[in-house]
Amino acid sequence: MSTREEILLNIESKQARYAHLKNGQLQDLIVERQGTRQITGNIYRGKVKNILENIQSAFVDITEGDNGFIHISDILENKKKFEERFEMDFDTEEEKDNKKASEEKELDESTNIGQVLKPEQPVLVQVVKEAIGSKGARLTSNIALAGRYLVLLPNTSHRGVSRKIEDRRARSRLKRMIRLFEMPKNIGLICRTASQAATPEMLIDEATELFYIWEKIVEDFEASDKPQLLYQESDLIKKALLSAIEKKVSRLLVDDYNVFQILKTMHKTYEKEHPLRIEQYRDKMPMFERFQVEREIEKSLGRKVWLPSGGYLFFDRTEAMHTVDVNSGRSSNDGGGLEETLVKINLEAAVEIARQLRLRNIGGLVVCDFIDMRARKNQRRVLEKLNDSVRGDSAKCAILGMSEFGLVEMTRQRSRQSLEQIVFETCPYCQGKGLIKNYESTSIEIERAVRKAIDVKAQYGLKLVCHPNLKVYLDNHTESRYLRSIAEEANACLELNTSDTLHLNDFEIYSTINGEKIEV
Ligand SMILES: [Zn+2]
Repeated sequence: MSTREEILLNIESKQARYAHLKNGQLQDLIVERQGTRQITGNIYRGKVKNILENIQSAFVDITEGDNGFIHISDILENKKKFEERFEMDFDTEEEKDNKKASEEKELDESTNIGQVLKPEQPVLVQVVKEAIGSKGARLTSNIALAGRYLVLLPNTSHRGVSRKIEDRRARSRLKRMIRLFEMPKNIGLICRTASQAATPEMLIDEATELFYIWEKIVEDFEASDKPQLLYQESDLIKKALLSAIEKKVSRLLVDDYNVFQILKTMHKTYEKEHPLRIEQYRDKMPMFERFQVEREIEKSLGRKVWLPSGGYLFFDRTEAMHTVDVNSGRSSNDGGGLEETLVKINLEAAVEIARQLRLRNIGGLVVCDFIDMRARKNQRRVLEKLNDSVRGDSAKCAILGMSEFGLVEMTRQRSRQSLEQIVFETCPYCQGKGLIKNYESTSIEIERAVRKAIDVKAQYGLKLVCHPNLKVYLDNHTESRYLRSIAEEANACLELNTSDTLHLNDFEIYSTINGEKIEV
């Protein structure tokens, strides 16, 4: 049975959303809002704000939140960093030819940051790492423009091939090819994994396009006199098109006319690799509703997720990690073949956990508590299933073995904010705990406060105001009567009133004599 894959792109005024569907089921989701837009790969005309000589770094205004941060090692031409960033090796043979040229340009390791940067100086920089919390974005002067097949390196003469291309013949073929490209001498190129399938013509087309983009960036940099964005890499529209080609999906559906036109134009470069159907969704019914994506998103914001055979998962978060608890639900007491039932639930859980981690975009440490199984063999099966299920994930996952009690520790690469972080903010009532004090606790506090108002503050005309639901509790549990009797014993008078603007845990006491609030 062939799988039907589609990518949906939903464009709204305040957000753009990407959904990858496999046989109608949501497999991957990206939600981008103005504030959560990724800036990695973006190129800016920045302005140096201040130099920190002691750590050989500088802060640079890039008009995006806090100032970005650049270290001396990212200003000097740095071959090693390129190799790390793109998982590739440079052709050392070819290095020799260019050695002279690069020697002239490359600054010495003992170069001081003050020698290369001055406050207020305009700099061309690219973001290599998103800003996290109070840390600004990490910047580099080692610019790289990534296409689908090639990466253009405008500041270095190196040409190389991705390490992921293992076939030696393919490697040498590509190396020979890119060396022949007519490009200015000081422009470097890297062949990415996808370049294996591309024809020389396709590679030349892309190299030319990347070079034009680069020329435009330089032009805009020179024409400008203030910090500004010059090039946006991780644009969701481009990402949707490239992953549609990468995944060879049959259809890319978009619900916005302008974006539909942009996609069609962009696709021309890649048409030969994959004849993608790009369509505009025109129905009245919102697209994500029609394809049940909205419903899946709603589920991925909840704590509990059902499994097909009646088991369920609980997703929780602590400061240090995320936890997933696998529960057998009602199917646990089937009697005969119990182990097989549990294995079945665990296998379903493995698939669903991997999917939910993608949809929720959970990063960092994740601990999964599977249901205990007796046979070692079954534990291996579940672990294998989990490994299979995270394979297609664009975020790197690492899974440790299963402990005796069925615990599996895994990590998932952090990128962007999680779905929860994008959609929610901490509840101001419980500070994110998810718990508030119960009625009994609050009524105990009220009793103490009433006594204090009379005994300490010497107030004898009192009015208690609380939430209507709390008042109902007080009335039903004879608390109201008891509170009044406390007042009467001290020759005071107590009235009870309600206000639905008060929180369930809050109450106020006023003086009925001067109307002022009594602080207790
Ligand atoms: Zn709350």
